[in-house]
Amino acid sequence: MKNKALKRLICGLAALMLLFTLCSFKTETTARGDTAAYAGFKFKTVIIDAGHGGHDPGAYGSYSTEKKVTLAIAEKLQTAIEKDIPEVNAVMTRTDDNFIELHKRAEIANHQHGNMFISIHCNSLPDNRRMVNGRSVRVNNRSGKGVLLLVYGFKRTGEQLEAIRENASIYQEKNYKDYYNTSDDPSTGLVLNAFRDKYRKQSIHLANLINDEFVNNDGRRSNGVKEQSLHVLANSGMPAVLVETGFINNPEDEEYLNSEQGQNEIVASIVRAIKQYKKEVEQAAAN
Ligand SMILES: [Zn+2]
Repeated sequence: MKNKALKRLICGLAALMLLFTLCSFKTETTARGDTAAYAGFKFKTVIIDAGHGGHDPGAYGSYSTEKKVTLAIAEKLQTAIEKDIPEVNAVMTRTDDNFIELHKRAEIANHQHGNMFISIHCNSLPDNRRMVNGRSVRVNNRSGKGVLLLVYGFKRTGEQLEAIRENASIYQEKNYKDYYNTSDDPSTGLVLNAFRDKYRKQSIHLANLINDEFVNNDGRRSNGVKEQSLHVLANSGMPAVLVETGFINNPEDEEYLNSEQGQNEIVASIVRAIKQYKKEVEQAAAN
């Protein structure tokens, strides 16, 4: 018991020291570290991440898989950005049915100096268990509907359904323990989180812009903007949003997600939000 308390104290002190250090040089680094804060800043690159792929199918609908839907939407998004915002480069983390580790997706984003990371996914509710004739059976829970926007934030594992589902991709990787902090201990999260906090506000703002487009323009139901500790967003050094485009295990949403019209609406909404965000950060940099 004593050892554990001592370890917590040391961790806490280390975290505090790190925070003080970060705060003390924040004034000098803000100008370059914040994407919107220096004169002449131009928004140039969007990283588009199609969720899952290869031996990781993601969630299942009744006739489609998440990995196929996310790639179809991501491809349309890349084409739309190239057409509507030609001065912006749209880089894909995967262009075919291949499994790319979550940490590699962040590496690609950082290597390409992305100004924004958008990860495309589909939501799904876990099966319910019901007693039928004295036996427990799994029943598909189709009640989830609409969009959900996720940004990186540290929360205890028990509170975050979507993060558990989306983070499960790492267990398909061989050396996942070398790359991800799967600890449930908030004190270890705090140290790492001090670095990621830099992009928190911008990520939430971007998520809200996309959410508003889905709701106001497409009439989608929204489950809001949430912060969860998502591995795919954790290591990209730029504002990052994970878009749950709809519930693939809800029949209406599955049809929408697989339709040309649905995919085009989702893409057009994300493009409008990117345009708005780009305008805002470039204007802020010009003033
Ligand atoms: Zn997913």
